[in-house]
Amino acid sequence: MTGQERSEEKSECVSLSPMMEADPALPESERVCVFGTGDLGHSLGLRLLQAGYGVVFGSRRPHSSSRLPHGAQVLGHAAAAQSAHLIFIAVQREHYDFLVPLANQLKGKVLVDLSNNLRKNQYPEANAEYLQSLVPGAEVVKGFNTLSAWSLQNGPSDANRQVYICGESAEAKQAVIAVATKLGFSALDRGSISVARELEDFPLQLFPQWRLPLRIAIGLSAAFFFYLLIRDIIYAYVTQGKDISFRIMVSLANKVCPIVSLIMLSLCYLPGVVASFLQLYRGTKYRRFPDWLDRWMLCRKQLGLLALGFAFLHVLYTLIIPIRYFVRFKATERTVSVIRENRTTEFDTTTAWRSDSYLSLGILGFGLYVLLGITSLPSVSNALSWREFSFVQSKLGHLTLLLCTAHTYLYGWNRFLSSSTYKWYTPPGYMLCLVLPSVVLLLKLLLITPCVDRTITRIRQGWERGADQRNPKDSQPLIP
Ligand code: NAP
Repeated sequence: MTGQERSEEKSECVSLSPMMEADPALPESERVCVFGTGDLGHSLGLRLLQAGYGVVFGSRRPHSSSRLPHGAQVLGHAAAAQSAHLIFIAVQREHYDFLVPLANQLKGKVLVDLSNNLRKNQYPEANAEYLQSLVPGAEVVKGFNTLSAWSLQNGPSDANRQVYICGESAEAKQAVIAVATKLGFSALDRGSISVARELEDFPLQLFPQWRLPLRIAIGLSAAFFFYLLIRDIIYAYVTQGKDISFRIMVSLANKVCPIVSLIMLSLCYLPGVVASFLQLYRGTKYRRFPDWLDRWMLCRKQLGLLALGFAFLHVLYTLIIPIRYFVRFKATERTVSVIRENRTTEFDTTTAWRSDSYLSLGILGFGLYVLLGITSLPSVSNALSWREFSFVQSKLGHLTLLLCTAHTYLYGWNRFLSSSTYKWYTPPGYMLCLVLPSVVLLLKLLLITPCVDRTITRIRQGWERGADQRNPKDSQPLIP
C-alpha cells in the first residue's frame, strides 16, 4: 500500500465506538469484512462481533453510516476489502457492478454472496455465478442467504440452525464453514456453484412440502362439511321443518374434525402399505417407485401433523360439550320431564361399557397421536436411533390408527344396522371415514402374516425374485 493510499484509508475510516473498534492486531482469519450496511449487513455484523470477529464494513458512505453495531469499523469499499480475506456481500444483486472497479483489491479474496431474488428465474444466471463473472479473480461462495436479518439477530435457534453453502473452491468453502460454525450454525456444503440457483430459490418457497397435505385437508374438510350440512341440517329442515343451523358451529365442526383426522392418518400409512405390495409384486426393491408414490411418501410427516391438528380440535370441541347451552338445556329438560312423569330409568351396563370403551380408546389413540407428533420433531427424532424412530412411527403409528378406528366403530355401535341412520339413503360421515383406515389396517394385517412378512423382509435385504435362477449362489435364504 502506498503512503497516499494509507492516508486516504485513514481519512475514510470511521469507527463507531472508538473503545471497541476492530482490533488491528487480530489475525486476518479473525477479521471479516461486510459490504453493505443495510438490514442484513447490520445483523450479520452484529453476530460476527458477538462471536469474537473483528468486523470492517465496506460502505458507499462510510462517514454517514449511522446504524452500525458497536465495535465495528466502517471504511470505503476499497479499503475495507484490504482488511480481511473473507468478504460478505450484503448488497442487492442489481448493484453488483460497483465491485468491478474493485477487481484488484478483491483478487484472491473469498466473496460470500448473500443475495436473494424476488422471484424464481428472475435472471438468466444465478446471482453467485454473476458475481463470479464480475470478479473472476475472487473465490465466490454462495451461502447464508436462507437466513433472515431477524434470525441472525436472534441467534441460531433450533429451527434455524442450518446454513447451506456452495462454491467451486474447497478452501474458500472451508473458510465460510469455519465462520458459520463459530456463529453457531451448522453448515451444509451443497456442492459447486451450479447449485447456487437452487439455494437462491429456497427463500422463495412457501411451505413446499405442506402444499399437498394442506390441499387434501382443505378438500376433505370442505367435502365433509357440505355432506354433513345436507345430511344433518338441511335434512332436518326439509323433513321436519326444524331449524338446527346453530349446530354448524360446534356439532358439525366436531364431526368434520375427527373424520378428516382419521382419513389423513390413514393416508399417512397407506403409501407404506402400497409400497410394500409394489415390492412384493415386482419381487425387488431395486426398481424406483412411481413419482406419485415418492411424493406421497415424502409428505407423510406433514399429513400426520395435520391429522394431529384435527384430532386436537376434536378433543377441544369434545371438552366444551358440557358447557354448551343446547346440551345444558336438553339435560335440564330431560331431568324435569323424568321428575314430572315420575319415570325411572334403568342403568344399562352394555351402554356404560360401550361409552367407557369409546372414550378410553379415543384417549389412548390421542395420547399415541401426540407421541407420534412429538417424535416427528427434528430435535426429538435426531435423539432417536433409526430403530427407535421406526418403532414409534410405524408400530405405534399403526396402533394409533387401530385405536382411533376402533374408537369410531364404537361411536357407530349398533347404528350401522339401523335404517334411520341412512338419511336420504346416505351413510353418516363416520361410516364413510371408516372405509380407508379399515382397508389400510386389513392390508397391514396381510403384510404382517409370517409368510408375506418373510418375503418382504428378504426383498428389503436385497433379495430379488428370479435372481436365484440367474445365480444359484444367491438362492441361500437371507433370513435363516
Ligand atoms: P438493504 O437493507 O437495502 O441494504 C443493502 C445495502 O446495500 C445498503 O444498505 C447499501 O449499503 C448497499 N447498497 C445499496 N445500493 C448500493 C449501490 N448502488 N452500490 C453499492 N452498495 C449499495 O438490503 P438487505 O435487506 O440488507 O439485503 C442485502 C442483500 O442480502 C440482498 O441481496 C438480499 O436479497 C439479501 N438477503 C437479505 C435478507 C434480509 O433478511 N434482509 C436475508 C437474506 C438475504 P451502504 O449504504 O453501506 O453502501
